Amino acid sequence: MYSRSNVLFERAQQLIPGGVNSPVRAFKSVGGTPVFMRSAQGAHLFDVDGNRYIDYINSWGPMILGHAYEPVVKAIQEYATYSTSFGAPTELEIKIAELIVSMVPNIDMVRMVNSGTEACMSALRLARGYTGRNKFIKFEGNYHGHADAFLVSAGSGVATLEIQSVPGVTQTVAEDTLTAPYNNLPAVEQLIAAHPEQIAAIIVEPVAGNMGCIPPQPGFLEGLRQLCDANGILLVFDEVMTGFRLARGGAQELFGIRADLVTFGKIIGGGMPVGAFAGPKEIMEHIAPAGKIYQAGTLSGNPIAMIAGYTLLKTLQENPVIYQQLEEKKDYLVNGLREALGAAGIIHQINHLGSMLSVHFTEYPIIDFTAASGANNELFKRFFHAMLERGVYLPPSTFESWFISHALTRGDLDFTIAAAKAAIKAVK
Ligand code: PLP
Repeated sequence: MYSRSNVLFERAQQLIPGGVNSPVRAFKSVGGTPVFMRSAQGAHLFDVDGNRYIDYINSWGPMILGHAYEPVVKAIQEYATYSTSFGAPTELEIKIAELIVSMVPNIDMVRMVNSGTEACMSALRLARGYTGRNKFIKFEGNYHGHADAFLVSAGSGVATLEIQSVPGVTQTVAEDTLTAPYNNLPAVEQLIAAHPEQIAAIIVEPVAGNMGCIPPQPGFLEGLRQLCDANGILLVFDEVMTGFRLARGGAQELFGIRADLVTFGKIIGGGMPVGAFAGPKEIMEHIAPAGKIYQAGTLSGNPIAMIAGYTLLKTLQENPVIYQQLEEKKDYLVNGLREALGAAGIIHQINHLGSMLSVHFTEYPIIDFTAASGANNELFKRFFHAMLERGVYLPPSTFESWFISHALTRGDLDFTIAAAKAAIKAVK
């Protein structure tokens, strides 16, 4: 079934560390050979052996309208003939900035970068430069990219590979990263009390998606906002995953809570490598060359990435019904999965919000990293492979969120639920 993937993985491992260019793709925690893809269309992936899969990874988030979405493909084709990079300003950069500012609350200015990592790294530098403070708070199991400062108690691949402390991240850097359990305001209050006037920022995934999907408990984000206001700390919403996915204006719109800085990635590039950070003019103007906090990029604002992102965001802006439909698809799937797992007598938790969800095999509510880490990973591994064999491509780790794309049809969802029924019977 996977013979060509097996051959390619052998070759890849000789040339690329672990055979992949980003760790979670390697299926390390679920075992087996990663599937090598050839093409994709809508909600379906096609591998090099000719197998078809219904896709719940969606390139880890960007493909909210499905793969090879025609308007994006056409726009890329057209713009590629102008040039693939100018290294000089273009009108397109203004257009995408205007669009983002019109869609997202509480921001006046946007700086485009090339990845979510760069966005978070730059937002942290800006928060530090703006406040003149060095330390910041992040949450256990949240992932903000692979910059040194964020690799403390990180989720996603760091959690999947069970790396406690990343070699190469110096003690000095790690000391400025303070961590608290997600959804735990008293722990944040204690950190602030223990480090008066030293904390520049609190960075948070407003809905965590890198330890499975964990929504904020009522009052958590509101409490962070109050603590930041009371202590001169900037609240940074990492919306690399949730931006333009939970709502057109992201988590700020959904929960009605203002962030001081916001980071984006994934959807904002329509599948091209892009990130961005944004905020009010008063803070953003401290970035060079308007201010002295330096940040730059040879390919930042790349025209192909800009037109792909612009085209996708414009579709989302003009069609708010998409969000309602995404949620309906997610609810249909969640209900079907609950029924399938319940009928088989499998104890489970399904967390979900908007078009994000995750399944953990445990009786305990998944509200933080400790709870997520305690779920039955052995059963998940078997379930993952049984689903893959049946043509459903799930994230190969319990520390990742599943994503619903708008391209999923009722037929795809029914297929997935039927696969889950058969898979859980086969592996329990
Ligand atoms: N922030 C969040 C919430 C993410 O989920 C990710 C990636 O998954 C990042 C930051 C890093 O983005 P990138 O992988 O584009 O560097």
